[in-house]
Amino acid sequence: MSHVDLMELVRDKIKGLKAYQVENLDEGTKLHANENPYPPSPELLKKTFQRLDELELNRYPDPDCRNLKQAIANTTGALPEQIIIGNGSDELIQYLMQVLCDEGDAIAFPDPTFAMYGITAQCLGLNPVSFPLNDNWDFEAQSALQVLAEHKARIVFISYPNNPTGNCFSAQEIQQVIEQFEGIVVLDEAYHDFAGKSFFNQMEKHNNLVILRSLSKIGLAGLRIGYGIFPVMLAEQVNKVRLPYNSNSVSQWVATELLNDFGYVQNQIHSIVAERNRLMGELSKLPAINVYPSNSNFILFQASEGGEKLFNVLKQNGTLLRNLNSHPRLKNCLRVTIGTRQENNQFLDQLRKVSS
Ligand SMILES: *Cc1c(COP(=O)(O)O)cnc(C)c1O
Repeated sequence: MSHVDLMELVRDKIKGLKAYQVENLDEGTKLHANENPYPPSPELLKKTFQRLDELELNRYPDPDCRNLKQAIANTTGALPEQIIIGNGSDELIQYLMQVLCDEGDAIAFPDPTFAMYGITAQCLGLNPVSFPLNDNWDFEAQSALQVLAEHKARIVFISYPNNPTGNCFSAQEIQQVIEQFEGIVVLDEAYHDFAGKSFFNQMEKHNNLVILRSLSKIGLAGLRIGYGIFPVMLAEQVNKVRLPYNSNSVSQWVATELLNDFGYVQNQIHSIVAERNRLMGELSKLPAINVYPSNSNFILFQASEGGEKLFNVLKQNGTLLRNLNSHPRLKNCLRVTIGTRQENNQFLDQLRKVSS
């Protein structure tokens, strides 16, 4: 019988952390995770079932994801050798830190933003530093650059549009950071399809730029497909830390099909954007709610008081939102993902009842 002191073996840095908590509902309306509310096309699902036979699940997947990279190259204009597939773009965030940072090195991001930059940095023993967003959820390049220089940051992560605030930061300020920062600028474009803006075309001129994208927000969250577009030299380095076969054959195949026949998803994106604009209009009519502009598939809003209570009442009624109240800059703030028209109306009805 072994009686090893397991906790003694665990690194102190890890003991001090909390696991990334994601609330979930087994039933009800999930407006908390920024997923696409619509399923993939019936044709794609049917083809996938038919194809399962030929996918040879007893064999490892293509380690180089060649078909998927070609599909991404065709839709983005990037070269296949610039592209790396991740098991979600979360995985690529970790790879970037592993490739570019020694223990104790700083990585930076604006605050508030996507939590995984900070969490992943902590898990790797790095030093996460942030620069504050102003009241318009934007930042000035010069003060950001100061923070980057002061901590000798090696990477700055810029979520564009920003999660959870929903907006795109000023392109001019980002441009200045790209031009003046002597480290890597990661433009995390997980929500790019809803914003229609990208920094991809800057990659030609600036070799310190990395673009991250994801299929999670546009319909394949369950298959975990993210990708990064890197300068070729950096892609070669990232491939050294990438786990072999990190992207499975079913995900590769479905993602390739989805990208090669994007019209169906493009229509879903149009509906989501139209619903987002309608929902913003409706929310802005509620006196007890302050709604922030969004370029994404979600909306951040602030209740004048009792955000926590509002969150709980909605949850009891079967509608799950993302509660951001614990962040000091986001008191009474909730984030709602754009759902189907019916889901959005249900959310609005419940909200009007509670907050009028
Ligand atoms: C959702 C999200 C991701 C990660 O998506 P994956 O599911 O891991 O592809 C990355 N960045 C931001 C800002 C996100 O909101």
